[in-house]
Amino acid sequence: MKRILVTGGAGFIGSHLCERLVNDGHDVICLDNFYTGSKENVWHLLGKPNFEIVRHDVCQPYWAEIDEIYNLACPASPIHYQYDPIQTTKTSVFGAYYMLGLARRTKCKILQSSTSEVYGDPAVHPQPESYWGNVNTIGIRSCYDEGKRCAETMFFDYHRQHNVRIKVIRIFNTYGPRMAQHDGRVVSNFIMQALRGENITIYGDGKQTRSFQYVSDLVEGMIRMMDSGDDFTGPVNIGNPGEFTMLELAEKVIDFTGSKSKIVFEPLPQDDPKMRRPDISLAKEKLYWEPKVKLDEGLKKTIEYFESVLKER
Ligand code: NAD
Ligand code: UDP
Repeated sequence: MKRILVTGGAGFIGSHLCERLVNDGHDVICLDNFYTGSKENVWHLLGKPNFEIVRHDVCQPYWAEIDEIYNLACPASPIHYQYDPIQTTKTSVFGAYYMLGLARRTKCKILQSSTSEVYGDPAVHPQPESYWGNVNTIGIRSCYDEGKRCAETMFFDYHRQHNVRIKVIRIFNTYGPRMAQHDGRVVSNFIMQALRGENITIYGDGKQTRSFQYVSDLVEGMIRMMDSGDDFTGPVNIGNPGEFTMLELAEKVIDFTGSKSKIVFEPLPQDDPKMRRPDISLAKEKLYWEPKVKLDEGLKKTIEYFESVLKER
C-alpha cells in the first residue's frame, strides 16, 4: 500500500484516478481547491478509511509524507482555463514547482499530467513525442499550452539537476462520466445539447479532427506509467488514435441519443487546432498499453451518465 497524493483529485479525471487507487488499496490524499472540480465527484469515496480530501491551492506550498504524486491540478476545458488565464498559468507553473519541491524533499515519484496541447496546431500528423509543436505564445490558448510546456521544462530540469523521479504523460482529449456539464468541451456540449433537444453547435466547418479517449483507458495508462521503471521519464502520449471530425462526432451523438437536434455552425475559436491524433508507439513499447474502449462504446456510457444527471435534476 502506497501513500499517494492526487492534485486536482476532485476533477473529472482526478476523481476516476482516486477511485481506482482507493479500490487498489492505496492511501489516497485528494488535494483540490474546487475551482472546476467538486466534492460531489468524490462523494462516494469520502467514507473510506484510505481516502481523505484536502482543500488547498497548488499555487501555495504543501507538505505531506508520501510515496507518489499525480499532478493533475489545472482547469482543462478552454472556457474554464480562459476565464482567468493568469491563474491558469500560475496553477500550471507554480503547481509544478511546489509539487516538484515536495517530490524532491520526500524522494517520491511524481507524474505530470501534460497535454497534447503542447503540440499546439500541429504541423506533423499524427503527433509523436519527438515533435516540438507549433504553439502561439500570445493567444487565448497560450495560458494553458505554454503553462503546460513550462511545467514539462521544470520537470526535466528537476530531474537533471536534483534527480527527481519524474514521469510525464501527454494526455489527448479524454471524455467520460463526471465531465462537468457546462465545461464547454465538445463531448459534453454535444451530449447535453442532444439530450435537451437543443441545436448542436459545431465550431467552424466541423472538419477539424480530434482523437477521443475514454477515461478508464487513461487511468490505466497513468498507473502503468507511474509503475514503470525510474529510467523511463517520458514524455509519453496517452490517447486513443481513433480520429474523428466534429461532424462525425455530432452525427454519432445524434444517432445514439435518438435526438431531433439540428446541427448549426458557429465561428471557430482563435487558434483552434485543425487536427490531432496521438502516435502511441512509445506507450505500446514501454508500458504495454493501448486503449481498449472504442468511441461508440464510450459515448454510449457517457450518454447514460448525462441522462442520469438530467433525471436527478
Ligand atoms: P478538471 O477541470 O475536471 O480537473 C482539474 C481539477 O484541478 C479540478 O478539480 C480543479 O478544481 C483542480 N484545480 C484547478 N486549479 C487548482 C489549483 N490552483 N489548486 C488545486 N486544485 C486546482 O479537468 P480534467 O479534465 O480532469 O483534467 C485533469 C488534468 O488532466 C489537467 O491537468 C489537464 O490539463 C489534464 N488533461 C486533461 C485532458 C482532458 O481531455 N480532459 C487532456 C489533456 C490533459
Ligand atoms: N467544438 C465544437 N462545438 C462545441 C465545442 C467544441 O465544434 O460545442 C470543437 C472545438 O472548436 C474543437 C473541438 O470541438 O475544434 C474540441 O474542442 P474541446 O474544447 O473539447 O477540446 P480541445 O479544443 O481543447 O481539443
